Amino acid sequence: MPYQYQFSDGTPFKHPLGKVVCVGRNYAEHAKELNNPIPATPILFIKPATAVTPFSETINLPHDLGECHYETELAILIGKKLTKAAVEDIDDAIAGYGLGLDLTLRAVQSKLKEKGHPWEIAKSFDGSCPLTSFVHPSELKDDSNIEFQLKIDGELRQHGKTSDMITAIKPLIAYISQHFTLMPGDVVLTGTPAGVGLLESGMKLEVGLESVLNVESEVL
Ligand code: ZN
Repeated sequence: MPYQYQFSDGTPFKHPLGKVVCVGRNYAEHAKELNNPIPATPILFIKPATAVTPFSETINLPHDLGECHYETELAILIGKKLTKAAVEDIDDAIAGYGLGLDLTLRAVQSKLKEKGHPWEIAKSFDGSCPLTSFVHPSELKDDSNIEFQLKIDGELRQHGKTSDMITAIKPLIAYISQHFTLMPGDVVLTGTPAGVGLLESGMKLEVGLESVLNVESEVL
């Protein structure tokens, strides 16, 4: 089934799904685990709407393309058009918070990086962005430090705290809008904390956003 926005309380969201703007290396510990330098400005790339699939259904791994890694990321649902926005403009532009996976064909990406080529075929394939439903910003106690996690087969693999981000949420969204207009219905994936790894068929995934969202899935 194609992805449709949903809030966990059933509230409708009238805008169609747009693009997903992603940021690379936004947590120092993750940059280190892949031996990447910490960038001076955010590294941006885009997944098209066709990459998005519901997290709550099964996750289909691409076959014969080498290792596929999970990266668990806080997802921001944009609720307002933003072009060259200032940080102060972002306050009322966040319509919801959810979780997403930035699935990455790591071997394909490594080859592209070696050649200095864009990463799209490693990161933007169909199904490369499983997304959960969203919660309203008011459901979170403190949006300056949001915590989220990924468990695989019951074991904690990733634990993110937005206070560890190199570029925080609002400056990140403002920065993105200097380069690409964000539309209501676009999603921003805010980077992965450390702990990325291989996804394999049969794994049971469980992602949690504080106490407000908990979603399970299985890898096919
Ligand atoms: Zn990522």
